[in-house]
Amino acid sequence: MKFEFPADKMKLIHSMLQKPENIVITTHHRPDGDAIGSSLALYHFLTQEGHHVSVITPDEAPAFLSWMPGFNSVISYEKNMPDAQERIRNASIIFCLDFNRMDRLDKLGEPVSKSAAKKILIDHHLDPETSFDFSFSFPKSCATCELVYYFITGLNGKLSTPIAECLYTGIMTDTQSFRFSTMTADTHRIIATLIEAGVENHIIHENVYDNFSENRLRLLGYCINNKLKIYPEYSTAIITLTKQELERFHFVSGDSEGFVNYALAINGIRVAAFFLERDGIIKMSLRSKGNFSVKKLAEKYFEGGGHMNAAGGKSRDSMDATVEKFLSALKEYSSELK
Ligand code: 5GP
Ligand code: MN
Repeated sequence: MKFEFPADKMKLIHSMLQKPENIVITTHHRPDGDAIGSSLALYHFLTQEGHHVSVITPDEAPAFLSWMPGFNSVISYEKNMPDAQERIRNASIIFCLDFNRMDRLDKLGEPVSKSAAKKILIDHHLDPETSFDFSFSFPKSCATCELVYYFITGLNGKLSTPIAECLYTGIMTDTQSFRFSTMTADTHRIIATLIEAGVENHIIHENVYDNFSENRLRLLGYCINNKLKIYPEYSTAIITLTKQELERFHFVSGDSEGFVNYALAINGIRVAAFFLERDGIIKMSLRSKGNFSVKKLAEKYFEGGGHMNAAGGKSRDSMDATVEKFLSALKEYSSELK
């Protein structure tokens, strides 16, 4: 499937980019491969066009992406507030990538919302807020990186190798290595173009998937062996990790990326949940197979959202209470999960 960026909006944006501008690019908190990939691809493109560009993330980007071109220029709002605030104050344009609502920016949401800069959304989550000056929202797209590809090529931008590497990474990580139904023939053609632009695809796979720390692998082993619980009545598997357990395994941000998918890989399991206790709250990662919507469940019970088969949310209760609340929520949908 191709995604059409309306010509009138693209013409306006083209004219806004005629002279060097101060531009901020931002993305959701706890950024993943698509968030950082789309932000850095756009960063390389706009820098190449002569603009002054800052990528500001609500919190730190995960270390497993540190090999990405431009990674060191990413500014964490949490760690560099005054500097980031000044960059936002000076910006004439703010790109909002891979999120649909300002609350996904955490504390960074306030200065971004208040800024007088023109805000441009490029995203693939359902139901975006309407507060953006330009909104390119395509929920059928597999990744924001796919949309940034259309955006850059729509402005006749050249796909340099760093841009192509960043876009490849985001499409690869958001589609679990090109396996989802959103990965259409057109997306495969984009991937081919990115390889032609210089991406060494096997290296990107190695960098992301064969680059685990020993701690991460042992934590995964512990999760699967000791923490995975199956609830056959709901075709559901849950993994939980408490703060104490994270400390025991010297957890760093990104270490549990993808753990939820191991729970979903069990035959007969249709819903997988991963609960991680950090910074006083429990962050929930939800996945499903088929047409059970974890997005619906996350929105209704856990202040969250996302996509039908991949969503997230949070809980301010204890771990035990969160599991209980999740199981009672599943009870409501038990007829769908039989
Ligand atoms: P993950 O489990 O990888 O953190 O997130 C899966 C999907 O759910 C992503 O598309 C992400 O954007 C979305 N998501 C995760 N956490 C939240 C949340 O707290 N609120 C909303 N609205 N979406 C979330
Ligand atoms: Mn995404």
